[in-house]
Amino acid sequence: MMGDPLNAREDAAEALGMVARAAGPYLDALPHLPVRDATHAHLVDDLDGPLPDTGDGTIAAVADLLRIGTRAATHSSGPRFFHFVVGGATPAAQAADWVTSLLDQATGLWLTSPLAARAETVVLRWLKELLGLPASHGGVLTPSATAANLTGLACARHWWAGRHGVDVAAAGLAGLPPMPVFSSGYVHPSSRKALQLLGLGRDVVRALSRDDAGRLDVDALDRELASSGPAVLIGNAGEVNGGDFDPLDELADLAERHGAWLHVDGAFGLFAAVSPRTAGLVRGVERADSVAADAHKWLNVPYDSGMAFVRDPAALEGAFGGWHTAYLPDPDDELVNYNTRGPESSRRARAFPLWATLRAYGRAGHRAMVERHQDLALRLGRRIEESPDLELLAPITVFIVCFRYRPPGVPESELDDLNRELGEALIDDGRVYAGTTVYRGKVALRPAIVNWRTTEEDVDLLASVVRELGGRLLTTD
Ligand SMILES: *Cc1c(COP(=O)(O)O)cnc(C)c1O
Repeated sequence: MMGDPLNAREDAAEALGMVARAAGPYLDALPHLPVRDATHAHLVDDLDGPLPDTGDGTIAAVADLLRIGTRAATHSSGPRFFHFVVGGATPAAQAADWVTSLLDQATGLWLTSPLAARAETVVLRWLKELLGLPASHGGVLTPSATAANLTGLACARHWWAGRHGVDVAAAGLAGLPPMPVFSSGYVHPSSRKALQLLGLGRDVVRALSRDDAGRLDVDALDRELASSGPAVLIGNAGEVNGGDFDPLDELADLAERHGAWLHVDGAFGLFAAVSPRTAGLVRGVERADSVAADAHKWLNVPYDSGMAFVRDPAALEGAFGGWHTAYLPDPDDELVNYNTRGPESSRRARAFPLWATLRAYGRAGHRAMVERHQDLALRLGRRIEESPDLELLAPITVFIVCFRYRPPGVPESELDDLNRELGEALIDDGRVYAGTTVYRGKVALRPAIVNWRTTEEDVDLLASVVRELGGRLLTTD
């Protein structure tokens, strides 16, 4: 019967060949495609329909997904998707991601894939070296920075409950006071989400800011810690709206002085460590107790891919291990079961794309990419400062450029609406993608340049499309 995969064995290689044959034209077109092509938007309807009874067979199903997908996808892995912080996929990482699917390793236990376990161990070691973290740190690959924040903060919770004499992994939170958590105004919603999942509550975070951008009030934090008891600090290495960094060295000093746990959310910003030009922004991160980062942002590994590191390698087993199940092997430092070191159990071999990209481009290649993105952001900053109708709103640190359209003669009171409309017009237009935020009370555009494919022409196009669409809004109002 056609619907039985057992009868489709011969189709397996042919189906993969179809994907490979589609890849060439797709990747050739990617630099020129609009980010989203409205003329193909209706194709998503073709995904819908009743659950097939007999099925169309391998070739027809894969062909249809390719037909729909290559047209209706958001071409966010191309060079002109500047919304949020969305990385591309380097050629080596993308190909290795296919290898990951080809080999389909059950990655969690050493026993099910010594290959994937060893790749993870090697990749974590390479990443620590690349990012300037101590080799003695423990680590685990995660699906995302949200999961990595969850991982780091779960270790923090375990440590904190231990200070109160409770093994929270076994006994839970009952009877414990609220966990004191402090951060700056830069704290990312995913850290709050992690705290929410951990039963600590997302509102437990006290954001101590000394200005409306959200910069950390170090003195206030020092005062709070003097009376808080054991506490957790969240340092933010890269804030998504303006691109600023918390002073990690000062946070580490405070954590040391008051015996607090320092967790650093370095989702994208941790990779500033790769270049001497930007490494100062993350100085002190090597002193943190736990560190979270994404690979699918600035490292340009395909979705999904993140990582968590902890100073005390036993902290991961403490928070996530201890299954005590007859059919699982005991923890072992050589033959690592990564399912005892993070929130997942069965998992994808996420190490392969990381391994391939680090092997392919090395320290120098990743440094070149980091520096190019900063150069492109600074170039965009110059375009903005040269343009009488654009206004730069925040200093450029790495690759986020926070600015707004401000044509002469438009009163301040109308600028927020104008920029909001402009953000919508950019998305509708589709040539370049950028979104709006509110920065220091002002509606702003905040493109993030974080894709290895992006060139000077792409960045110049962003500036000119913003001015073109802005001008059009003015004349139609
Ligand atoms: C993107 C981001 C996150 C969350 O990362 P995901 O990969 O989306 O889970 C956390 N913190 C910061 C600063 C981020 O930029």
